[in-house]
Amino acid sequence: MKIEKDIFKPEPEKSEEYIEKSLRPQTFEEYIGQKNIIKNLRIAILSAKKRKKSLDHILFYGPPGLGKTSLSILIAKEMGVNIKITSGVAIDKKGDLAAILTNLREKDILFIDEIHRLPPSLEEILYPAMEDFKIDIVIGEGPGAKTIRLEIPNFTLIGATTRIGLLTPPLRARFGIVEKLSFYKVFELKEIVKQSSKKLDISITDGGALEIAKRSRGIPRIANRLLKRVRDLAVVEGKREIDKELSLKMFELLKIDGNGIDTVLKEFLLTIIEKFNGGPVGLKTLSAITGEEKDTIEDIYEPFLIKLGFLERTTRGRVITEKGYEYFGFKKGKKLF
Ligand code: ADP
Repeated sequence: MKIEKDIFKPEPEKSEEYIEKSLRPQTFEEYIGQKNIIKNLRIAILSAKKRKKSLDHILFYGPPGLGKTSLSILIAKEMGVNIKITSGVAIDKKGDLAAILTNLREKDILFIDEIHRLPPSLEEILYPAMEDFKIDIVIGEGPGAKTIRLEIPNFTLIGATTRIGLLTPPLRARFGIVEKLSFYKVFELKEIVKQSSKKLDISITDGGALEIAKRSRGIPRIANRLLKRVRDLAVVEGKREIDKELSLKMFELLKIDGNGIDTVLKEFLLTIIEKFNGGPVGLKTLSAITGEEKDTIEDIYEPFLIKLGFLERTTRGRVITEKGYEYFGFKKGKKLF
């Protein structure tokens, strides 16, 4: 299998990007959690292989860092085909997308991350490509322009998105398999941390792995990131093993509490409580006041805070819940100052 990636340049060995890559699960067995999705995918893959056909188009959705890209690479591996990795923000010209599509080989996988950000004019190219494996190309300009239809190889499109709601219905309807990735349980994250520490060549106790897992907000990418920070402390302190005590020491330094809430999230919650009396407050206002991108708020902060039960999204805006107030030792409805 060849992995082609056109959004990042090739990186030297041992760079952060290289290590990040090596932490990716290399087999379905190493892909922890999301059991139901794996089960369904295995059936689809087996069937496609038996029928000697390309796999149905797949759409994965869920917050960043949950394993959508990793899963797509594993699918390509299992199918024995190449994968071309790109993103909805990286392609903006019709010609670029047409070139990518015509360069694919039979059964290859085209992975488009953030597919909801693909411009509408490009979506139109995808419709016949996904349905009939054909693309329409316009040659020339003005009244003399001609449209010709080109055959392209039978390929599989895997789209990934953090916002399924932003996908246009015609695009969404063209995916045969649609799967939602959910947040990981602490015991799954603990397993991921243990697996990653092996790859990073540092030993870890159950207690050490558990403390990291608990603070990972349900997200493998965060689990790996935190593990690397604790590993750094181990290296600095000359320790050969990460244990509970070392993990807790690092989290104290990083100011991350037992729920995985850091100072940024604390500030975010406090802004709503102090400046808006707990809400409701609209996304735009919140973004302007906190200086955080709207996408970051919607894709990263909110799903986690909603999962914790600290925040609610209502039609009138974001509201801090009773539980959110209690976290700071405040009582909802009571004036703070
Ligand atoms: P997404 O595409 O959803 O943003 P990625 O596939 O890039 O997420 O995953 C981020 C990192 O988290 C990966 O590099 C991998 O190390 C780790 N990871 C994600 N899912 C899993 C999993 N199920 N098991 C083990 N590691 C995982």
